[in-house]
Amino acid sequence: MIPQNKLNELKALRCKIQACRDCDLRQHYDKPVACAGSPIAEVMFIGEAPGAEETEQGKPFVGASGQMLRAAILDAGLDLENVFITNVLCCRPLGNTFPSDVSYVKACRHWLYEQMLFVRPKIIVSVGGQAHKHIRESDIGITKACGKWEEHVFSLYSGHKPNTEMSYRAWYMATLHPSFCMRGPDTRYANPVMELDRQGKENLLKKHIASIPQQLQIIKGGQI
Ligand code: SF4
Repeated sequence: MIPQNKLNELKALRCKIQACRDCDLRQHYDKPVACAGSPIAEVMFIGEAPGAEETEQGKPFVGASGQMLRAAILDAGLDLENVFITNVLCCRPLGNTFPSDVSYVKACRHWLYEQMLFVRPKIIVSVGGQAHKHIRESDIGITKACGKWEEHVFSLYSGHKPNTEMSYRAWYMATLHPSFCMRGPDTRYANPVMELDRQGKENLLKKHIASIPQQLQIIKGGQI
């Protein structure tokens, strides 16, 4: 049972995000796409940015990519009520391409940190290469990093919110973005994940997400 005060606080946080005008992506949209899910979720999925359908509905991961992700979450036996879903950027990038200009990520990340500290998930899963790069702050590409569990201390920058905690410890894994899974094999690179066909990539995404319940059990059992 989710305490009413947490639901109220989540509603207030969503309203604050939807009112944000901290970068010029906002001028193209009616409002940013705020987070979805439980304010006491044990697992937080962080994608890259909303697409067209997400922007229209005002919810993250509701288009074709979202359906694949949500199906994998359900297949893993995870309760959708026990997860929280958000993005690195809350507004859709122009041309639907994640911006190479990091100023947009820098402008938006105080929302991400606020959500992490509000929900305090045991597990953080980045969905896609850009999410992994900006959340884990790692140069190791997603096709090499995906599926590996590690305990990580995330450095948080207080941004617009003074007195914010400066770090947060959680278990972390990166997985493939569903939109990448929908693409065919790419043999230009010597990389076994790139060479997988659509079904192979989707199976890998499902395998990563299927490892979450066991990881949760291990964490709660204090085995690690
Ligand atoms: S992308 Fe983030 S920082 Fe920029 S306007 Fe949207 S919510 Fe605000």
